Amino acid sequence: MAEPSAHIVDVLPFGGPEKPLAYAVPAKLKGYVGPGALVRVPLLNRSRLGLVCEGLTEEIDPKRLKFVHDALYDDPVVTPDLLRLAQWLARYYAASLESVLETIVPAPVRAIMAPKTTRLLALAQRPAPEEMDALARRAPRQAELVKFLEQQSGPVPRGLLISRLKLTPGSCDALVKKGILKEVLQDEAREAYTDELAEDEALPTQEVTLTEEQAAAVADVEQSLEAREFRPHLIHGVTGSGKTEVYLRALERVVDEGGSVIFLVPEVALTPQTVGRLRSRLSKRGQKVVVWHSHLSAGERADGWMAMARGEARVVVGARSAIFAPLKDLRLIIVDEEHEPAYKQAESPRYHGRDVAVYRAMLCKAVCLLGSATPALESLYNVELKSYRLNRLSRRVDDRQLPTVHLVDMKREKLSSHGAATISNMLADKLLDRFEKQEQSILFLNRRGYSTRMICPECGYVAECPHCSVTLTYHRSDNRLKCHVCGYQERPTPRCPKCGCSKYRGVGFGTQRIEETVQKIIPRARIMRLDTDTMSKKHLFRKILSDFRTGKIDILVGTQMLAKGLDFPNVTLVGMVDADIALHVPDFRAAERTFQLLVQVAGRAGRGDKAGEVIVQTFMPHSPPIQYARRSDFEGFLEEELEQRREFHYPPFRHLVRHLFRGRNPEKVGFFAEQWSRRLEEHLEKLDHNVEIRGPVAAPLEKVKDTYRFHLWYFVGNVSKILPDIVALRKDFPMDEDIVDVLDVDPVDLV
Ligand code: ADP
Ligand code: ZN
Repeated sequence: MAEPSAHIVDVLPFGGPEKPLAYAVPAKLKGYVGPGALVRVPLLNRSRLGLVCEGLTEEIDPKRLKFVHDALYDDPVVTPDLLRLAQWLARYYAASLESVLETIVPAPVRAIMAPKTTRLLALAQRPAPEEMDALARRAPRQAELVKFLEQQSGPVPRGLLISRLKLTPGSCDALVKKGILKEVLQDEAREAYTDELAEDEALPTQEVTLTEEQAAAVADVEQSLEAREFRPHLIHGVTGSGKTEVYLRALERVVDEGGSVIFLVPEVALTPQTVGRLRSRLSKRGQKVVVWHSHLSAGERADGWMAMARGEARVVVGARSAIFAPLKDLRLIIVDEEHEPAYKQAESPRYHGRDVAVYRAMLCKAVCLLGSATPALESLYNVELKSYRLNRLSRRVDDRQLPTVHLVDMKREKLSSHGAATISNMLADKLLDRFEKQEQSILFLNRRGYSTRMICPECGYVAECPHCSVTLTYHRSDNRLKCHVCGYQERPTPRCPKCGCSKYRGVGFGTQRIEETVQKIIPRARIMRLDTDTMSKKHLFRKILSDFRTGKIDILVGTQMLAKGLDFPNVTLVGMVDADIALHVPDFRAAERTFQLLVQVAGRAGRGDKAGEVIVQTFMPHSPPIQYARRSDFEGFLEEELEQRREFHYPPFRHLVRHLFRGRNPEKVGFFAEQWSRRLEEHLEKLDHNVEIRGPVAAPLEKVKDTYRFHLWYFVGNVSKILPDIVALRKDFPMDEDIVDVLDVDPVDLV
């Protein structure tokens, strides 16, 4: 045995202990078992799949170690930068290394790489007649099995035989032992790689001449690519300024030079146009694009993953988890619509795809392009700090005008219409005008359903979810009251369930009611609604979008999912039915979200040759985010908002960590949250850490699915420095088993 350390590796078994374990590498596997390799190792008398990590363990006597059983592939499937990324992710987001690695090497990939084998049985040899007679007498079931298999054309799964013929496993084995049957092992069949999105929206590639601003941005990005250094760029381009073209130029360049690219989008289903453009550009170069989205089958996922690990595909486009693509020689990471909250994962590990993208780019010395018409305040602040380079695209392609924005004060509208106004006179007039000109309109409202809640004007009763602290929404299409938090449903009663009053009715309005109202205003208009209620019906979503594109629909009513990057040239009017919704959410980002939503929504109008108009209905026409958005004044908004954030120590000046406690008994949950906060405070005083604790208080959404929620906020300067301490302290803090707590770093969901 040469130097013993050369034969030891650290393996983190999946579904095993939290820490990597040391194993010895047998001579036959030498050279195959480096960091990032998938291996099988013995653990507690079982063979388990595990990932080889980088050397972490100390001196160990190799003689006492168990051997790695096998390596699944000749090459490591996880790249070295991904292994380091995993370690950072686990630390920064207070997640277990195991959960992080399970995210990085997704389940179907692990399952396929360790194929499940099915045990089949077949006849080995036909027994002699007298042997058959003897068998029929002593073991009639076994005889039946033999007869059955004689009639089959091939091997039959053992499990199926046992259940169908009501056999014991022992009788099967006995026949195998006697040499009458034989066992055949078969790898489970896997699904073929089909590429559904490929057929979609394969847009023709027009060669475009870059605008001056685009050309300047591309040149700047190319300079960074040449430098082969870690460089983040913020591409801040107004809606319709051609950001995608800038991404594609950079991407083509990297691909031509042999490097790899990750292209993140908030939601693949909502960006078929981008995917289509990317595909047609790359297919010209004979390059395969892996499209990574949530509707892939297990087989597709595994094939796409392996294509990247083997270097057969060098470009992936996908939602946040595509950031973990096992691409080698990664030189460019693009994050489109970088401000989107959808980049944050809601379950552990609770990572933010954009932030992970920046970190991975740093590890790979890659260029990172963050693009948006409405960048997150954090990103804009990074530009101020000179951590990010800024590339501005301030004008639309072909110098198309940004739309004119009109504010409608709904307080006045309400007075003049003597009651609940949902569509103002101005909006109604403009809708009619567009309809007559055969131009299209989009109406936005971030509230599904028909009415917001059911109330009784006599006794004040409000229909609430029995399991959550929210009111129920009335959906007219299926005549149900629904909870938008947990999905609970009930049939509405015609009278108030409390006092029996017949004036019990729905108030407030959702997308269904807007659809109905507009239909009354313009009976001949073809109106369609697009929200998650329609999304649930397969393919309907895509059909509606394509009908809208081809002019079969005049007016589209939808929730904010419509605001994301869609490009319909014939849309000349956009109506924001209630601009105030996001302002009322108890979230320090409420103003930012309102501003972003308004700018994005407005960006859907006037993308073709005709100028666009935007009608914003609000009860608060003078609130700063609405005023700044109306003027498209980013600098003004940024300055005012940063001032506020600075004063209250909110991000980007501090990081925020949310510590949520949940349990069925509210008193108990509150008690433990309180105890913990005291404990933490004492501890932090000793350490002289720069942390401010706020809370505990009941969460705004206090009850969800019958569990009560309390939370604490930590305002911290340096997450990686402080969080491990908090996690260690938490491990020593005894809490009843029915209380669950969750740490969420840089949260986007604050309720
Ligand atoms: P953004 O993502 O900034 O909103 P897009 O990249 O979707 O904008 O571009 C808007 C439209 O302009 C697209 O239809 C695109 O094909 C087109 N476009 C982009 N760049 C140019 C250009 N230089 N010349 C002509 N058309 C362009
Ligand atoms: Zn509920």
